[in-house]
Amino acid sequence: MRALRLMNWKSEPELVEVPKPTPGPGEVVIKIGGAGACHSDLHLMHDFVAGALPWNPPFTLGHENAGWVDSIGAGVTGVHEGQAVAVYGPWGCGKCSRCQLGIETLCENPTAAPIPGGGGGLGLDGGIAEYMLVPSERFLVPLPANLDPFIAAPLTDAGLTPFHAVRRSWSKMTPEATVVVVGVGGLGHMAVQIVKATTSAKVIAVDPKAAALALATDVGADVVLEPADSTVATIRELTQGHGADVVLDFVGSESTLKLAQGSARTLGDVTLVGIAGGAVPFSFFSQGYEVSLQTTYWGSRPELIEVLNLASRGLIHAEHTRYSLADSAEAYVDLVAGTVRGRAVIVP
Ligand code: NAD
Ligand code: ZN
Ligand code: ZN
Repeated sequence: MRALRLMNWKSEPELVEVPKPTPGPGEVVIKIGGAGACHSDLHLMHDFVAGALPWNPPFTLGHENAGWVDSIGAGVTGVHEGQAVAVYGPWGCGKCSRCQLGIETLCENPTAAPIPGGGGGLGLDGGIAEYMLVPSERFLVPLPANLDPFIAAPLTDAGLTPFHAVRRSWSKMTPEATVVVVGVGGLGHMAVQIVKATTSAKVIAVDPKAAALALATDVGADVVLEPADSTVATIRELTQGHGADVVLDFVGSESTLKLAQGSARTLGDVTLVGIAGGAVPFSFFSQGYEVSLQTTYWGSRPELIEVLNLASRGLIHAEHTRYSLADSAEAYVDLVAGTVRGRAVIVP
């Protein structure tokens, strides 16, 4: 079968022939129906060197996956062949206290996981391929009947990550609150919808790309802004001088962190999701009083079930640009160029 593989750090992925996986005891092979191309894969290709992560190439890219169960190993009882499933991407040990709550992103016994701190497409073979090996049925979530795997795939990260980030700040997203979403790409356009679908807060979206701002408006943003030196002042004007109750930064550069820190209201949350690697000073007076600065990482299995539920009810959807497996490398070229609308989804 064909698979798009990262062969080395600091390199572009290659479409190569590899053997189709067969499931061992407890394992499941998925026929891929859709695999999302995440900006994190660009960080994997361009930013990391050996030793930075607990694992190394080669592996097949693609950590946002959904499809149909193709074959099951001995002892698998919870899913059956032909069943449509989403893959829960962060693979932990399944037994530690975090994993028991379904928060496998924060597994506290990573040496007992299929791979420490990773998953399919992150150290192990992912879903930009015809088939994918999933080490346990625990990592599969049955799809609601009206969600095609192609539609569901981006929900497993581009949907789940902002859902988790929004959920952590729900108590601050009151009817009079304003949420700023910085970066309206794959994750950010889902964040706008998740805030609108699950709270009554207003949303201000910030992105330098006109097409991204148009997408933000299409999916429900109340106000859209191009980033400029005046953006902090504009956000304060739009909020009666108070600032934003929650700022979700889906970029994470020095300039977006400054924007986030500067525009947060007292008691507000600044949530860093993007991993561009920027930094800002943190001191008593570097932001408003009682502003919390936090990072978030992906999401839990129960949250994925909630995201699929929201999508199944038509309350959120991932805008997508579709690519064939033959054109899968092109998806990343376009992601760098900034020409992808919503999420690039590869369909073998
Ligand atoms: P994407 O490329 O689809 O979207 C990024 C968007 O940010 C684009 O629309 C771009 O125009 C916009 N942007 C760039 N510079 C900007 C600026 N200065 N101000 C405002 N907007 C700006 O990327 P994505 O797949 O949505 O991922 C976003 C980030 O989140 C990446 O860094 C990715 O690695 C990271 N990520 C983090 C997690 C996590 O768990 N923390 C999970 C998935 C992705
Ligand atoms: Zn991702
Ligand atoms: Zn664990």
